[in-house]
Amino acid sequence: MGNNGSKNGHGQDKGELVIENVTRVFRLPGAPSCTALQECSLTVERGKLTVLVGPSGCGKSTLANIAAGYDHPDSGRVLIDGRPVTGSGRDRIMVFQETALWPWMTVLKNATFGPTMLGEMSRSDAEDKAMVLLEKVGLKDFKDKYPAQLSGGMQRRAELCRALVMNPKVMILDEPFRGLDVMTRELMQEYLLKLFQQTGLTMLFITSEIEEALFLADRIMVMTNLPGTVKTTVETDLPRPRDYQVLATERYRQIKSQVMESLYEEGAKIFQRLDGIQDLLGNCQASSQP
Ligand code: ADP
Ligand code: MG
Repeated sequence: MGNNGSKNGHGQDKGELVIENVTRVFRLPGAPSCTALQECSLTVERGKLTVLVGPSGCGKSTLANIAAGYDHPDSGRVLIDGRPVTGSGRDRIMVFQETALWPWMTVLKNATFGPTMLGEMSRSDAEDKAMVLLEKVGLKDFKDKYPAQLSGGMQRRAELCRALVMNPKVMILDEPFRGLDVMTRELMQEYLLKLFQQTGLTMLFITSEIEEALFLADRIMVMTNLPGTVKTTVETDLPRPRDYQVLATERYRQIKSQVMESLYEEGAKIFQRLDGIQDLLGNCQASSQP
């Protein structure tokens, strides 16, 4: 088939993402410093869908930004296939919860803009690839529409296509389906699983929802609540292809209670902190001089 050496025939290369002892402290003038991540380590295995789950404010986006190379750790490092990440790069693409589609471009233009601008693909190759992806997510007939003409779910699907056209080795998705209504969200999860299975891409999916984590993941990592680090790793050995029938299985319930126990312990810490209102800023300890 002559693709770039990937095994899956969809031109997607798989990478391994390693986060090694990453610490990130936010220091704002006149405010307490905030240790968002402390000695955080995790490995996102090649071709696996790893879900990072943690309560709001626990450091998930901080980790995603560092993994994508948009932010730098105070200490520790990020490696893609053994090579240190020093800035943003097209080998890892982040999909945010807010749509980042250009409002003045059609869906197809949005999807092909990246690779054609980088000069890595001819316009017609990029369009061919984008059309295959758009068809997979049911947007083929919407290729000439503008983002404002699409529903929220359609925009997220277009966003996924735009990211996948870039042929990333690792896709980082930071709560990409937050804010969607329940049914659209469930449909999006199914689309994502379909794309994952067809591309075999390495994915790091971030969420605060247990059900979303369980439905998608090969492996779930539960984060501690500030400073963020990986607390528990749970293998989600539910069969694939997965559909909503899996929710009724005994194994699903077992894994769910395991994850819930770990996550709720972290969630409870927020309420403990709220008891002492002066600690409202999380465990952002006052940096009363080094
Ligand atoms: P999550 O994505 O899990 O909700 P974040 O990673 O966004 O959490 O934030 C973790 C903590 O770091 C929060 O307490 C937040 O206030 C703090 N934080 C995040 N970004 C910044 C920043 N740019 N400046 C200062 N504090 C920040
Ligand atoms: Mg976040």
